[in-house]
Amino acid sequence: MDITLVEETPFRFRIERQVPMRVPGVVFATRELLPQAAGDKALEQVVNVATLPGIVRASYAMPDVHWGYGFPIGGVAATDMDAGGVISPGGVGFDISCGVRLLAAGIDRGPLAPRMRRLMDILGDTVPRGLGPGGLWKLSGRSQLGELMVSGAAYAVEHGRGVPRDLERCEDRGTLPGADPSQVGQRAVDRGLRQVGSLGSANHFLEVQAVDRVYDEPTATAFGLHTGQVCVMIHCGSRGLGHQVCSDHVHAMDQSLRSFGIELPDRQLACAPAVSTPGSAYLGAMAAAANYGRANRQLLTEAARHAFTVVAGAGLDLVYDVSHNMAKIETHDVDGVRRRLCVHRKGATRALPPGHPDLPDDLAEVGQPVLVPGTMGTASYVMAGVVGNAAFWSAAHGAGRVWSRHQALRRVRGEQLHEELESHGIAVRPKSWRALAEEAPDAYKDVDAVAVATEGAGLARLVARLVPLGVVKG
Ligand code: 5GP
Ligand code: MN
Ligand code: MN
Repeated sequence: MDITLVEETPFRFRIERQVPMRVPGVVFATRELLPQAAGDKALEQVVNVATLPGIVRASYAMPDVHWGYGFPIGGVAATDMDAGGVISPGGVGFDISCGVRLLAAGIDRGPLAPRMRRLMDILGDTVPRGLGPGGLWKLSGRSQLGELMVSGAAYAVEHGRGVPRDLERCEDRGTLPGADPSQVGQRAVDRGLRQVGSLGSANHFLEVQAVDRVYDEPTATAFGLHTGQVCVMIHCGSRGLGHQVCSDHVHAMDQSLRSFGIELPDRQLACAPAVSTPGSAYLGAMAAAANYGRANRQLLTEAARHAFTVVAGAGLDLVYDVSHNMAKIETHDVDGVRRRLCVHRKGATRALPPGHPDLPDDLAEVGQPVLVPGTMGTASYVMAGVVGNAAFWSAAHGAGRVWSRHQALRRVRGEQLHEELESHGIAVRPKSWRALAEEAPDAYKDVDAVAVATEGAGLARLVARLVPLGVVKG
């Protein structure tokens, strides 16, 4: 496919609308980042998404965009709920509500240094991870899982796993409304029952970091961050449960496409009107899986808190918890009209601007913390939402891959990477050499460039830069 990009600004490129696109494509990037986005067919996916029924304004790509299932990872698309707009499970992703939370430790990197090794050993021993079963919380059965799927992180906190303040710093206060556990199939339930409170594999991590640089002092202070401070970043999602929900509903929607008269350029975009039986079935199941993912991050927080208490007598305060694989029903202004939209963010982080009513009171003036992990060998960023975000309040969710997992495995040896990271003072507790190699820093784009592009494109602004001290990898 021949895709022509028109440079609108140094950080924004347009793909002109042509049949059968319903809206143009908009790629937020720099000239340096663009070839990486174009290299893996992600831009064709941006074009494909632009054909979806009910899509409004544009099919957007964040600066970390790369190829994904149907939708690109780093893709944002909003459809008009009240005008036949569709919901597509591929626009959410297999790891429903995968996301990141950042915790600020009550200790700086200097005093922690002599205790780092022990801290990492405890974290390595207590954080369940890898592909299979095993989690921090053994549930009694389907009915308890059902309650967890309805209430999410709030369920964990109500059961003593966390403090009420944690919920104030979670997107949606930790509970995505509208969960319908009856739409979660038996297979998903079976997989989910055995994995509550676990990290997952490869790209998921629990990382001990230090604030290396602060760009905006007042905002960093509002977030509870200062230079030299230790942080913990947790990246995980809804494990096998979310994956199974996605598979089941992609299949169901694929079957119902014809009855809605929907034609797609790619079957992986399987979808249904958001207001329809299969549409609301998926939305109910998606919310249930999302709440599972949120409870998961809450439980892993408690494991990190335990380790920090034992080793350093230090607490961990939640800075923010935000999903980057979600579809949400939101009201936005489109061409001067308030419209109820289904906003798909797949590998994209919601980024609310200052003054938004959904922000916690103490962040109302500075905007939402936007968490942009990089790699275990480079940096990660804390950014903040800004007024004027052109992509329905969305921003980059990471560095974004440049090598597929397969390519990374061909080029990197896990043992050698482990040695290299350790020699740079980064303590690594891997689960497998293979998973470590797949996640090599070289397999990702330059996160510094992605952060600069995100700011330049007006999607979010820089607040602080974090560097890795130690990582527990799935
Ligand atoms: P995803 O949700 O797309 O799998 O991953 C989000 C982002 O996490 C990736 O784009 C990548 O930049 C980042 N990432 C993956 N592994 C690590 C890690 O071990 N540490 C940090 N800090 N970031 C990582
Ligand atoms: Mn994930
Ligand atoms: Mn993720």
